[in-house]
Amino acid sequence: MNLKKILALGLTAALFFTGCAERREAAQQMLENQKMENRHEATSFAMDTIMTFTVIHEDGDELIIDAEQEIRRLENLLSITLEDSDVSKINAAAGKEPVKIEKDTMTLLETGKNLGAMTGGAFDIAISPVVKAWGFTEEEHHVPTQAELDALLPLTDADDVIHEKGTAYLQKEGMAIDLGGITKGYASDRVAALLKGKGVESAILSLGGNVYGIGTKPDGTKWEVALANPLDANDYCGLISIEDQAVVTSGGYQRYFEENGKKYHHIIDPKTGYPAESGLLSVTIISESGTEADVFSTALFVMGLEKALDFWQEYGGFEAIFVTEAGEVVATEGADACFAFEGRDNDFTYRMVERK
Ligand code: AMP
Ligand code: MG
Repeated sequence: MNLKKILALGLTAALFFTGCAERREAAQQMLENQKMENRHEATSFAMDTIMTFTVIHEDGDELIIDAEQEIRRLENLLSITLEDSDVSKINAAAGKEPVKIEKDTMTLLETGKNLGAMTGGAFDIAISPVVKAWGFTEEEHHVPTQAELDALLPLTDADDVIHEKGTAYLQKEGMAIDLGGITKGYASDRVAALLKGKGVESAILSLGGNVYGIGTKPDGTKWEVALANPLDANDYCGLISIEDQAVVTSGGYQRYFEENGKKYHHIIDPKTGYPAESGLLSVTIISESGTEADVFSTALFVMGLEKALDFWQEYGGFEAIFVTEAGEVVATEGADACFAFEGRDNDFTYRMVERK
């Protein structure tokens, strides 16, 4: 049913009411119903995570299929485990020869390297040999020896990743790239652009820990994203309100294994080759760019609170919320403006940091 018909019906129904206000209310209700009728949602599994796309549009079902196809297309290029992906081909030819790659792969190498350099190497697309040594790539977890790590760390320099004229080349044998820290953010940007290009003005995309809100909710209020409590999967620390923005969280609690009573998580400090122990439980970035949010959430988790805040003061362009091991939730000034902290059942205290 189209909007005019619904409105016409609504107004006819409204004639049964006496007062003007009631009539307006009924028409309003009809409009709301129409919007809900246009609410389409689907959940799928891709890129190693659960994705839920909610699109408010009369062609929502078809648009979600388009979105899922775009995700598959990117996964087929960027996955480190699918054999025919660009990433697998680049890794298989390390130290041997340049490999022809697609435009998206090129963009991600370029962006990953540039943003990685900005973070002083805290984000490192060439970290794969070490991530693999911990067993995170094949899900065969174990603690590597120091000798193993010492041998692998020289193979993790992103400057040894050469990308030019539609090809990519890893200069040393044994090198490998891992785009797991940037792919989902990039994918959220691509899907958001695709949907906006097809006229979508209201949608929320959730790609695991990466969320992107297009426009606002149908009622004109901002989308709300829960900030997970890293210590309790059933709890959250507050709500973040967004409009045409991405919210991306990185945290040690998202993927880890235990050995001899100690937890080892999947975010590696490229300086040590060990899971970053920076005093943080999670970092959440709010940004208009899902790609940047994804890179910075990983990088700032490696940096720790103090360096991360310096980085934010220096570069801006994004806002951040940190949850620390010491029990603090720390929000940058711009994040504070769109964040409603809820202490509720968790023991966190809250603090805002002003821009200098
Ligand atoms: P994220 O969940 O976005 O924080 O990304 C974590 C994933 O990125 C890991 O599962 C690894 O595949 C990869 N990764 C781990 N440490 C780093 C790092 N320091 N720089 C770039 N990618 C990393
Ligand atoms: Mg990331």
